[in-house]
Amino acid sequence: MTVIDLESYEDALATYDPVMGLEVHVELGTKTKMFCGCSTELKQDANSQTCPVCLGLPGALPVVNEIGVESAIKIGLALNCQIAEWCRFARKNYFYPDMPKNFQTSQYDEPIAFDGYLDVQLEDGEIFRVEIERAHMEEDTGKSTHVGGATGRIHGASHSLLDYNRAGIPLIEIVTKPIEGAGARAPEVAKAYVAELRELIKALGVSEARMEMGQMRCDVNLSLRPNGTEKFGTRSETKNVNSLRSVERAARFEIQRHAAVLNSGGTIVQETRHFHEEDGSTTAGRIKDNAEDYRYFPEPDLVPVAPSRDWVEELRKGLPELPRLRRKRLKEEWGVNEHDMQSILNAGAVDLIVATTDAGAPSDQARKWWMGELARNANETGRSLDELPITPAQVARVAALVAAGDLNDKLARQVIEGVLAGEGDPDTVVEKRGLKVVSDEGALSTAVDEAIAGNAAVADKIRGGKVAAAGALVGAVMKATRGQADAARVRELILEKLGVEG
Ligand code: ADP
Ligand code: MG
Ligand code: ZN
Repeated sequence: MTVIDLESYEDALATYDPVMGLEVHVELGTKTKMFCGCSTELKQDANSQTCPVCLGLPGALPVVNEIGVESAIKIGLALNCQIAEWCRFARKNYFYPDMPKNFQTSQYDEPIAFDGYLDVQLEDGEIFRVEIERAHMEEDTGKSTHVGGATGRIHGASHSLLDYNRAGIPLIEIVTKPIEGAGARAPEVAKAYVAELRELIKALGVSEARMEMGQMRCDVNLSLRPNGTEKFGTRSETKNVNSLRSVERAARFEIQRHAAVLNSGGTIVQETRHFHEEDGSTTAGRIKDNAEDYRYFPEPDLVPVAPSRDWVEELRKGLPELPRLRRKRLKEEWGVNEHDMQSILNAGAVDLIVATTDAGAPSDQARKWWMGELARNANETGRSLDELPITPAQVARVAALVAAGDLNDKLARQVIEGVLAGEGDPDTVVEKRGLKVVSDEGALSTAVDEAIAGNAAVADKIRGGKVAAAGALVGAVMKATRGQADAARVRELILEKLGVEG
């Protein structure tokens, strides 16, 4: 890889003002493809989910997927867009083997949704409004695999394999207006925007929006202009960035790279760039000037899409609570600060905690288990919280057993460990492992007497007024009862028996 000079981030921002444009592709979770009845399931054998339409065979006629249109309208509405009363698909003509028709069915000057915005929250709580240019419907291409070369790229490959299972899967492309005024926070804004958009898409239920699986990918357009000037500089377009962190890094890298080029008297060429996870750098792709000609024209084989206003209003009424507002509400209901809420969000625990409270647990208990014991386990075993083999209802049951005094925290942790190990429900684990708290006063009293007898010196200290030493005796009792005693009650009994005030 060629070494590229970078300006320091601070110096770059001292001279230049970044302008960004984000293009996000979302793969919809429809059962079938956008223009044919083929399944969208991706796990099947190559080319097993194809038909004359998505293979682009002559004479095949496409039909629009209604759920695809509905999903596009939902996304448009959630992004505060206008929904076109009438719009068409267009052919975007170009040749590439992964696109057998030699055109992509897309939308051009008549997108289904346009002129919206999304408010995103930055780390310090500030709200930044990102304006949306358009959201349009299109289809995905097939997938090429280049074989025989060292890099997996086409250069040096001996042959290529083509799988058209992905060809025709519905995509929504969401394009922002130029994002100005973010200054040094441009990379943070980019990340926050994609994060918010992902939450929104998931809340709408139109896609799982898993970036690591390519269900959502972002092109980061970026240019610099001298501080205090109006005219946009030339942009670069870093393609297919597929994690939130990478979006932020790509924007940051491009700011530093553009500044270095401009400062050394060079010019930025309008080109696509590839992002590299390993070091956060970008390298040149293909030159892309505005003269690029796809010879767009309206698709003659598809009828125009004219969603009735009644339908649009019905969809508007059915929109879920927006993620940002839901988070705000939950933050207040749970009584947590911004920082803790952010941690909960980053851990992917919001929905799990909600489900646990829905199952009857107090929110502080639900938070405590998901963000404590379970987060630790997930971390250690390299899983996400929702992949752990424990349900919110089971966590709620553990919390209920603690609240009823049947378990203390230490025992509850063992119960959770048992559930995670596949030993069954919390009640089954309690039963099998014999984990109930010993609250039988007679048994506790005996255990305390034994501890006092076995630790005479400590007992004397306590009698002499050194109440803090009681901890050692509590420890002895807990050990003798294998952690199954109620520690608070044990402490009370010890002090009572030794005749001192707690
Ligand atoms: P293309 O098809 O070439 O990718 P689009 O208009 O679809 O063009 O997307 C370009 C994106 O870049 C949009 O989000 C737009 O707002 C943004 N953009 C346009 N010009 C600039 C510029 N000079 N600097 C930064 N972003 C820009
Ligand atoms: Mg683009
Ligand atoms: Zn098909």
